[in-house]
Amino acid sequence: MRVLILSDIHANAGALESVLTSAGAVDGVWCLGDVVGYGPDPNECVARLKEIPNLLCLQGNHDAAAIGHLDPEGFNAEARTSIEWLRGSLTDESLTFLHALEPRMETNGVTLAHASPRQPVLEYLLDSYSAAENFYYFGTDFCFVGHTHIPLLFVYKHHEVSMQIPAANTTLHLERRSIINPGSVGQPRDRDPRAAYAIFDSEANTWDVARVPYDIAAVQERMRAAGLPDRHVIRLAGGW
Ligand code: ZN
Repeated sequence: MRVLILSDIHANAGALESVLTSAGAVDGVWCLGDVVGYGPDPNECVARLKEIPNLLCLQGNHDAAAIGHLDPEGFNAEARTSIEWLRGSLTDESLTFLHALEPRMETNGVTLAHASPRQPVLEYLLDSYSAAENFYYFGTDFCFVGHTHIPLLFVYKHHEVSMQIPAANTTLHLERRSIINPGSVGQPRDRDPRAAYAIFDSEANTWDVARVPYDIAAVQERMRAAGLPDRHVIRLAGGW
C-alpha cells in the first residue's frame, strides 16, 4: 500500500493542493493533525480533505483549540489571535469534521499520533532522549507523528535511540522500530519553506521524504487580508 503522509496543513490550501498534485495516485492518505490554525484557508482545507477517499485524520492541538477542547491561554499571544480569528471563521461543516477527530490511532500495524505516542496532543519530540521514553508508549513497529513541523527520524536499536534529519527528496528504508515525522505541509520550520510530506510504502517499508514548492506569496496575501499576525505571514517565506 502506497500511503501519503500529511501533517500540520495549518489552513494553507495552496500548500495542500501542491502536495496532493505532487504525490499523485495513492492508496490512502493519513493526516497527522493540525488541519487548521495559522493559515487563511481553514474551511477550504477541511473541504478538500473530505473529498479524499481512504482518508484517516488525527486531531492536532490547533484543531482542538478551534473547537474549544483546548484553552487558547496555553498558546502564545499571536497564536491566540489566530485562534480567535479561526473560531469566528469555521463553518458548521468544518466544526463537525474537526469534532470527529482523535489525536491518536492505530492502523495497518502503524501508530499515528499528532504530537507523541505518550502525549498525543502537546509533547514536542525534538531530541533522542524524549523519543527514547516514547518508544515505551506504542507497540507497533512504526509510529508516525507531526506537531514539530520538522522532518525527523528516530530509530530504536540495541537499546539506543538515534536521531536523523533526513535530506529532502530521498528515500529511507525504515527500520523496526522507528518514530518518523514527515514535516509540515503548511508551515515548515526547518528553514526550507517548501511544503513537506512523505510517501510510506507499507510493503517495502520505505519512506520518501518529499518537498514541493507552492505559491507562498498568494497565501501571505490572503493572511494579510484576513488580518492574521504579521509574524505568521513572514515566517512562511523563511520556513521557520
Ligand atoms: Zn502544528
